[in-house]
Amino acid sequence: MDGFEYLFLIAFFGLPGIAGAWFARTRGKNPLLWGLVSAPFPFFVFILWMQKPSVEVPGYFRKCQSCGMVYPWKLDTCKYCGVARKLS
Ligand SMILES: [Zn+2]
Repeated sequence: MDGFEYLFLIAFFGLPGIAGAWFARTRGKNPLLWGLVSAPFPFFVFILWMQKPSVEVPGYFRKCQSCGMVYPWKLDTCKYCGVARKLS
């Protein structure tokens, strides 16, 4: 096996694994577990990407104190009910 084949394998299994781990992290799930299942089955990356976290993930997703929906951390107002987050 030469270097190119190794690179191909790393790209083929490594990238979905890294993407899966990253999405799992931003959604409050176990990055190691999801990275491992995403590497051989990149479909899991898609599942994770489609999924919204159900809990607040500091730095990534915020839970609305008014309606309980989860929205991106960088927004200052809930995109579902428009209530501004409480400054803590
Ligand atoms: Zn809301």
